Amino acid sequence: MLDPFGKRAREILKEFENINNFLEIIPTYLDINLALERIIWLKSDVIPGYILNADDLKDLMGFYALLGALAFSPYGFEMELVKEANLRIYLARIERTKNFEELSLSIELAPENEIPQRDLTIIEKRLHSEISPEERDRIALKYKIKLKDFLSLNEGSLKSVYIKNGYVYLTRNQVIELWKKSFERNLERAVNLLYELRDELPQYYLQLYNRLSEIAREHFKKRFEKVEKASAQPLRFDLFPPCIKMALGGVPSGLRNYAITVLLTSFLSYARICPNPPSKNVRIKDCIKDLSIIEKEILPVIIEAGNRCSPPLFEDQPNEIKNIWYHLGFGYTSKPRLEDSGTSTWYFPPNCSKIRANAPQLCKPDKDCKYIKNPLTYYLRKLYLENKKESQGEDRNE
Ligand code: SF4
Repeated sequence: MLDPFGKRAREILKEFENINNFLEIIPTYLDINLALERIIWLKSDVIPGYILNADDLKDLMGFYALLGALAFSPYGFEMELVKEANLRIYLARIERTKNFEELSLSIELAPENEIPQRDLTIIEKRLHSEISPEERDRIALKYKIKLKDFLSLNEGSLKSVYIKNGYVYLTRNQVIELWKKSFERNLERAVNLLYELRDELPQYYLQLYNRLSEIAREHFKKRFEKVEKASAQPLRFDLFPPCIKMALGGVPSGLRNYAITVLLTSFLSYARICPNPPSKNVRIKDCIKDLSIIEKEILPVIIEAGNRCSPPLFEDQPNEIKNIWYHLGFGYTSKPRLEDSGTSTWYFPPNCSKIRANAPQLCKPDKDCKYIKNPLTYYLRKLYLENKKESQGEDRNE
């Protein structure tokens, strides 16, 4: 199989009706150690032949087993590891093929007569007789893709490509580069989808995630240590999604209870206390040893946002503070104790679709929103990208 998001993969998944069924079946076929072999080879830098030549179903099971594990921590070193190993497995296969039909990209073969000879002479250096046949093959514009599909993957950039009649014409290497972007985007989308299902996934995936995490810790040892040291950092307000920034700025009366009590309370508490809960029924007392983080870092931010509403929320409705504790899982109270956590449900941040249905004014998506389905994953993704950028900068300076 060339692409786990391509046509062949979709055909196989169709036979299982839906992704839940496929994920249910994987544990009966694939032992956790076998699933991890798809990653472990990175240590030796040589992809084993039995992985490269696996049959389509086994290949897809191995890949989806790892995606299922990532549902427990969508943005982290584990995802980076899974992405790196699988990108290399599929790239190795793609590099051996001449047929890109199976890829998830809508690539077409470009008939030669579509590009004026004058342009081909320049781009493909046709008058340069010293160019070897291999090099000539490398620079030939053999493929094309619709301009809108190209732009959606290439972040709007048209640098170094030939465009004609609504199509972008590409060399083989350019197709492969574009496929890498599409693979990364599809992987993120799939993990975000599975994140929503994580409470329904068999235990197998949590166990696989824990093992994967150990391997990632070893593989990214230096970066892991830096992040661990930084894990007690306060919330990064600059990385919050637009809806949360809007709620923080205060909202009008019809939106106040939803924006402050439901959305902000759940988002800030999970983002600060337990950004990657293993399931949705975790309790605050499972994550912290006393209430000081809530009282000193979370509640003041919620109260300030409430005061910025018009009219100010807690002046109008002083009992709403009890409702905040209720949403944090302590029951309807003004005197919470850590041991009471679990009396009510610790509300998880609502998904974007729910926010759009209940408070459409809060959802003003920016370009990063297209990758996620929940404001918390928006924040996790931005934190992950930020940490990655910082560690790459530090590596360059060392
Ligand atoms: S798409 Fe989601 S994260 Fe983005 S603004 Fe809307 S609700 Fe918030």
